[in-house]
Amino acid sequence: MTAPSRYRGQPVSEGIGLGEIYHGDSPATETGHRRPPTEDEVRAAFAAVARDRAGLAAELRARGQDQQAMIVDIAALIAADPALVSPAVEALRAGAGAADAIRQAGEAQAALLAALPDPDLAQRAGDVRQVAQAATDYLNGSTAGPPPAAKFILVRREVDPADLIRLAEAGLAGAVSVGGGASSHAAIIARGLGLPMLAGADPMVLGAQSGHHAILDATTGELIVDPPEPELAAVQATAATTARTATSARTEAARAADVEVRTADGQPVTLLCNVASAAETRLGLSGGAAGVGLLRTEIAFTTAADWPATPDHLAQLTPILSLLRNRPAVIRLLDFSGDKVPPFLRSAREQGLDALLNNPGALGAQLTAMLRAGRGTRLSVLVPMVRSLAEVAAVRAALAEAAAAEGLVPPKLGIMVEVAATAANAAAFATAADFFSIGTNDLTSEVLGLDRAGQATTPARAADPRVLTLIRQVAEAAAASNVAVSVCGDAAADPLVLPLLLGLGIKTLSVGASRVPWVARQIADTDSALATARAAQVTGLCRPGPAQLSADRTIPPRPAPRSRDTARPASLTKRTSSSRASAASSRSAAPTTPIAPATMPSRDTMGAAIPASPTVASWSSTA
Ligand code: PEP
Ligand code: MG
Repeated sequence: MTAPSRYRGQPVSEGIGLGEIYHGDSPATETGHRRPPTEDEVRAAFAAVARDRAGLAAELRARGQDQQAMIVDIAALIAADPALVSPAVEALRAGAGAADAIRQAGEAQAALLAALPDPDLAQRAGDVRQVAQAATDYLNGSTAGPPPAAKFILVRREVDPADLIRLAEAGLAGAVSVGGGASSHAAIIARGLGLPMLAGADPMVLGAQSGHHAILDATTGELIVDPPEPELAAVQATAATTARTATSARTEAARAADVEVRTADGQPVTLLCNVASAAETRLGLSGGAAGVGLLRTEIAFTTAADWPATPDHLAQLTPILSLLRNRPAVIRLLDFSGDKVPPFLRSAREQGLDALLNNPGALGAQLTAMLRAGRGTRLSVLVPMVRSLAEVAAVRAALAEAAAAEGLVPPKLGIMVEVAATAANAAAFATAADFFSIGTNDLTSEVLGLDRAGQATTPARAADPRVLTLIRQVAEAAAASNVAVSVCGDAAADPLVLPLLLGLGIKTLSVGASRVPWVARQIADTDSALATARAAQVTGLCRPGPAQLSADRTIPPRPAPRSRDTARPASLTKRTSSSRASAASSRSAAPTTPIAPATMPSRDTMGAAIPASPTVASWSSTA
């Protein structure tokens, strides 16, 4: 029997998954060899592995994971070592097939190392085998074939959120990514789908052998490959119980669907779901969501070779929007930024909203598809990463044009408030937008100066008073201008932040689809008067009582804009810097973001308004 191998990672979507290891079938890595590889191609394969591992080591070092970076650096050195590469090339020249030649060279080198008395050096034998396997995979064009027929766990250097959606209904039982953190989009989608996932995993996991059985325990943060029989049996028993609980929770949620969500003291809350696929939409609606509060359209196109055309958008939108008859459907324009930049924009000067606005054809194509597919829904259009009034005006003009061409009245146009300067200037943006949707994922990482995809960035960090104070400002500006406001960032489903948002008077929340029933229960357990007091405590200001919290629709007209262009980022994050350097100067003016240093509240200091944190059961029961 093979000894178990254990790999640690940061749990970013809880639950337990059982399945075979599968390294994915990304077409992006395909080289498409039909003839036997040449000597140069074998050398190139080792060089590619060396480059890849060196790049990974640099990323890990940049994230402060020096220990892991050292391990990966060794793999880079092994892949570049003539002591491994030359024998492989010689074996090929002597007539062996490429895979055999590489394997033989790897085994010979591994045997030499394993025989060394120094245990540290002896352990490198495994690294040599992994490098040899990676070189073979590179030559074969992908790390694996199509997904196994049985349940499987996707293990990748960087899990692509689109892969999770694509594989979700093909037996995917969980995912492990060496890169990323809790606010990476892969983690967000995994939570939405209710799939267990580890991010920032031990890079050695890339060497785990395809087809071997594994337990992914995203409560303890461990992937166990070839687990011992008793451990496997115990996990299988737990999984069976969890599945039964999940079924009854789903039945309960289905019964509660369309029933108004209220706080413990009767304040109504609209609960929507965040989706990027029809599967998530079904899950969210069956869990009780009133509709979709954020449709992330870019996820479907992260491997696109060019801007999607109207038929591409229709193919993506129609299966989702056909589930949303007479329901809210808030569709966001393509947000090709951060970890969602498709190959055709990766080296472009502009990404994200700038790139879309500078390609009016692409913007028009998407708006037309939204209008066509959105007939029969309560459609709204949402603009991501807004920084200036000029951006909103440009989209509004394009929307009016597209609607006129379709013979329709333009739907509502809202903005994501997820840039700190935009949040700080929400009053000015309230003159231009029909509604605000607060994106706590980006907002939190910018305000706290954190790498959005890093391990330190979690939804709970939005409880920081610096972030909450900005959210409070946005809510107040919205209320003063009669503009609807919601929160669609992942903090809305965080046990620490959710009650604080309710306490700030947020009455519409949009959360990962699988989290809807859990969030509904949390809302029902929250006393809004207590939540208001706690939120006031955190933001350091007195808040009005719950009766005054909802936006008063009779409030006088919106104030005039302070200037045509108002916002500029207080600090650029990794997420945004690539696309902003040039555009910020042309489209933005000046105010700064008032962000004072503050201390993070803990659950202990938050008191009774805060319901208990979710247990594994409460997460997985919604899966
Ligand atoms: C956010 O930033 O909070 C948000 C909802 O947008 P995304 O996670 O897609 O960047
Ligand atoms: Mg965002």
